[in-house]
Amino acid sequence: MGVRARPIVVVSKCLGFEHCRWNAQIISNEFVNLLQSHVEFMPVCPEVEIGLGVPRNPIRVVHDPSSGTLRLVQPATGKDLTEAMQAFCESFLSSLSGIDGFILKGGSPSCGLKNVKIYSGIGSPYVKEKGRGIFGGAVFERFPRLAVEDEERLSNPLIREHFLTKLFTLAAFRQAQARGRATDLVEFHSNNKFLLMAYSQSAMRKLGKVVADQKAIGIENAFRVYRETLENALYRPPKRGSVVNVLKHMFGYFSQKLNEGERKFLLEAVENYRKGMAPLIVSVNLVRSYAIRFGIDYLLRQSFLEPYPLELMEKPTYDEDRDYWRF
Ligand code: SF4
Repeated sequence: MGVRARPIVVVSKCLGFEHCRWNAQIISNEFVNLLQSHVEFMPVCPEVEIGLGVPRNPIRVVHDPSSGTLRLVQPATGKDLTEAMQAFCESFLSSLSGIDGFILKGGSPSCGLKNVKIYSGIGSPYVKEKGRGIFGGAVFERFPRLAVEDEERLSNPLIREHFLTKLFTLAAFRQAQARGRATDLVEFHSNNKFLLMAYSQSAMRKLGKVVADQKAIGIENAFRVYRETLENALYRPPKRGSVVNVLKHMFGYFSQKLNEGERKFLLEAVENYRKGMAPLIVSVNLVRSYAIRFGIDYLLRQSFLEPYPLELMEKPTYDEDRDYWRF
């Protein structure tokens, strides 16, 4: 695998970059810290950008029954900040280009993507429902297919794995698209074939057709259509059964060269992954070791074997109550 593209990620500034929370605090986030050496962060604090000071009176999202819309208000001062925040969202988000993802602060009335408390009135203690913050909602609306998550959800290993895979794949594609040559498109598709197969076989075939038709439709058009299809393919995480299918496909490249014991051992590792008893990395490393041994470069180039830097991989944790390792 060549030099990995460095994703560009917009991040809530309070997640380790500045003391900009309403109470002048900063939040140290282990995952954001870990990512520092692998991505380009663009920190932003929407509340500071609209002129609120630090510290400041807290703000909240409220439901306005007269218009049926959501308002961003500051109960202590009675200020309605909705228009200011909407104007900032529009100017900031429309100024972005070439970004691959967002990591936003969970639960915030501005940055939150989910589970943000929406109150029934400016001074009301009642939470009517839960939804998105004003900035988080605007991000989701404008960039629904990028790698967009909040820091709370990223503590879930499966969500994190999907987020990282999408983030680094989109960054690699952005880099290929910037080079813009037909060979870059062919190489991207070839190196990501098994990853795409894990996410969606039908999308993989559709993408293969875009690559094959690039001369007829023009290279710029081919990159554009490929990107759209790729974003759709990566929208949902792959199913475990599809990942098993990919492992077995890769196994087919060298199975004839293995002895009975080696074959059985690899298939057991795959089966243990399928049952959730072993992490994917066990099977992946076995495939990789045989690809090295038999010199199968095509397999070694596959992003499926390492879709993002290994250092970012979630470590297994031991559940003492159940005497069980979680992968
Ligand atoms: S959650 Fe968003 S708006 Fe609130 S302090 Fe953090 S960056 Fe600023």
